Amino acid sequence: MGSEINGSHGARHIRLTSHPGQGATGAPAIHWGAPTAAERGPVVGTTVNRSQRNVIGTHSGSYGVYRALAVAAGNLVKGHRADLTNTSPTDLIGPYPQWGDADKIVSIDPWGASVADVFSEHLAQGYDIRPTIAVTKAHIHLPEVRQAIAFQRLQVDGKVLLDDSSAVVTKVAIEPVWWLPGVAKRFNVTEADLRRALFEETGGMYPELVTRSDIEVFLPPIGGQTLYIFGDARDLANPNVTLTARVHDECNGSDVFGSDICTCRPYLTHAIEECIRGAQAGGVGLIAYSRKEGRALGEVTKFLVYNARKRQEGGDRADKYFLRTECVAGVQDMRFQELMPDVLHWLGIRKIHRLVSMSNDKFDAITGSGIEVGERVKIPDELVPADARVEIEAKIAAGYFTDGSVPDEVMLAAVKGRGLE
Ligand SMILES: [Zn+2]
Repeated sequence: MGSEINGSHGARHIRLTSHPGQGATGAPAIHWGAPTAAERGPVVGTTVNRSQRNVIGTHSGSYGVYRALAVAAGNLVKGHRADLTNTSPTDLIGPYPQWGDADKIVSIDPWGASVADVFSEHLAQGYDIRPTIAVTKAHIHLPEVRQAIAFQRLQVDGKVLLDDSSAVVTKVAIEPVWWLPGVAKRFNVTEADLRRALFEETGGMYPELVTRSDIEVFLPPIGGQTLYIFGDARDLANPNVTLTARVHDECNGSDVFGSDICTCRPYLTHAIEECIRGAQAGGVGLIAYSRKEGRALGEVTKFLVYNARKRQEGGDRADKYFLRTECVAGVQDMRFQELMPDVLHWLGIRKIHRLVSMSNDKFDAITGSGIEVGERVKIPDELVPADARVEIEAKIAAGYFTDGSVPDEVMLAAVKGRGLE
């Protein structure tokens, strides 16, 4: 069922229509996993012309709510259509064989960066099709990279690393586009159960999830991901070019503010250093950064857990690390790495020579999706903040990769963190 808001004499009615008009300007069909863009069909999430829509939800992930606020506040004219002049990608990515495989990619639109090109005919007919992926260039300045140059671990080459210590990158922003039958299959649940849970757990936000089983694509109101590529993006798809990669989940407190209770920023910047070194040696580097704050539990839950950890009897200790999260959140983790490899397949990746991650969940998801992993690179001991030993030792005991010793229960209970003072 679709809805339209009609204003008349100050009264506003929400008209629910079960089947928007089809025909020449009706909703185009989506054949997910089709080998070409023309056969797949465009993803149309516009709120301007409801009869064109072929998805549940709308663009911009969680920011779609701000767009609604801007319309409500009168700052944005309802029906504004994006002018896409000069917005096309700086780097050509794909198409790759994985784009036509409905088992390999279920949570992003592989054609999302090139809609202006591949769906030019639809656009000319008046369809409001928006990119869900944007590709641009940047220079990034990081104090850790500057330090690596000062300590001569990295050298300026004028290509990957410039005289001003900045690194040259291609960066890619990606919004989530879920093909519900494929997402359900990834988690071994029925599509009907997935739709019902999404409907109920968002407080009934998207009735079409349960009333329109014929619409298979959902633009969920969640954060997306950002890629930082060091070297030539097309080399990512060449298994003969050494690929150094980290898949990193957002941790704002550490990544941006340097909070020392975890290893997130030190591991991220170590991975960037490895990516730069790899690209300078003729390889290519990739950081895939997902907006999954606090294991996708959110920052409020995360900070509640920090307090619970530090106030428990015996103080913050590695043997109770996962238990305290489970007490507050009900689970240890909600990141669902099952969907994470999609972006790697979008990039055409078949082999990661150096995976800068110790996570067994990430490793299992990547290799389980058919991507070969060579070496696994752990965080150097000297980069682990003192207060983050609780986290890293608990994770190693739970199965995270290490080339050192795995702590037993007695050792784990002895790893203590700082108090709240
Ligand atoms: Zn962290």
